[in-house]
Amino acid sequence: MKYNNIIAAAIAATILTACTGNPKSSGYDELDQWAETMVQNHLNQLGYPVNQNSHLDGFYEWYIANRLDRVVMNNAGSPFDVTSSLLSSHKFEREVLKFFAPLYGFDDNDFWGMVSSSGTDGNNHGIYFGANYLYNTTGLKPVMYVSDEAHYSNMRLADLQNLDLKLIKSDDMGRMIPEELEKALDPSRPCLIVYAMGSTFKGAIDDQKTLNEVLAKYPQMKVYRHVDAALFGGYLPFTEYAGMVDRKELNFQSIAISGHKFFGVDDPAGLFFTTKEVYDNQSKYDIAYLNRDMKMISCSRSAITPIKFWWLIQKAGYEAWNKEAVQILENTAYLKAELDCIGWPCWVNEYSNTIFLKRPCKETVSKYYLACNYDERFGGELAHIVVMQHVTKECIDVLVKELSEELKN
Ligand SMILES: *Cc1c(COP(=O)(O)O)cnc(C)c1O
Repeated sequence: MKYNNIIAAAIAATILTACTGNPKSSGYDELDQWAETMVQNHLNQLGYPVNQNSHLDGFYEWYIANRLDRVVMNNAGSPFDVTSSLLSSHKFEREVLKFFAPLYGFDDNDFWGMVSSSGTDGNNHGIYFGANYLYNTTGLKPVMYVSDEAHYSNMRLADLQNLDLKLIKSDDMGRMIPEELEKALDPSRPCLIVYAMGSTFKGAIDDQKTLNEVLAKYPQMKVYRHVDAALFGGYLPFTEYAGMVDRKELNFQSIAISGHKFFGVDDPAGLFFTTKEVYDNQSKYDIAYLNRDMKMISCSRSAITPIKFWWLIQKAGYEAWNKEAVQILENTAYLKAELDCIGWPCWVNEYSNTIFLKRPCKETVSKYYLACNYDERFGGELAHIVVMQHVTKECIDVLVKELSEELKN
């Protein structure tokens, strides 16, 4: 027993050194201790959709070795505005956008996009651009529709933008109900619909094809579709289900994806794409000191994030992300099967890497940073696990073993 403990401690120490390299003191104990805890715990984070197995190795060494840490840059303005005179990384931002745009079905010469500051920032632009586009092309204020299980940012943003919002009921598994959408539709006004891909807690994907058929019954009603694909928009393009985030198949006008989820940017980041037509039909406000029309909501934008994205494309790119996407779905199926095997109640939507389950004990919830929810239809107290790159089979085995112990107590 003792011997085993010594071995375990030795392994833990080796892993810790491998993760931290040689820790360097900042001179502030509090800060150093915090850093150590973050590094020790990061692989245990199973409840939130971030990739703790990123491909940013070497980025900071390069950045500092080239003294970029002394430079203040800013990507204010459109990355496609080549007259920009700022110290910026616009050139690399454009390359990043050109890499990703076709993955979401946007034609190389007919899209506008940006590296955004988050999935929420992308939703903000999708909703804002959509509402403006509909108003500027019809003279009518739109009604916004979104499912009641969609990410809260969409509701918050509708509020912020003072839009008439209709929350559409979703089914037990979290998908917008087509009949409910039809009941709520006001065909006398343009329709701004936000599709959830997926819903926050249950990982449900709105069935865009069926919902689009409902909208198609009202051909006089102008429609703008924004897809909130913060998490699933990361991995789906690299799977056999790529068509689910393809504008060519689903005819959406904009899409938002988070950069810190599947792609593993280590700070909040995102991608936003729309069409040139939408971008060209926004309200105009000429900004004298910048000598151009700025269509985006925020002025200053990170110049570092696009460089990280660009770095990730070189180091991971299509091939690694393809492998990881397939692995994520395989490991999700594995976790589901293992939980079924020990008889732990759990559910998962199709195409989803998010398993929701009967809530484990408090210690397990806090050890694995699980996100919790309550839903009578599934027996009340729930938690969810998001299977990202660092959630390996080994990690799943440890967790399932702990849960089966819990069942015995
Ligand atoms: C995570 C998430 C968001 C919020 O994205 P942030 O990048 O955290 O702002 C919005 N919608 C969905 C579907 C999400 O999964």
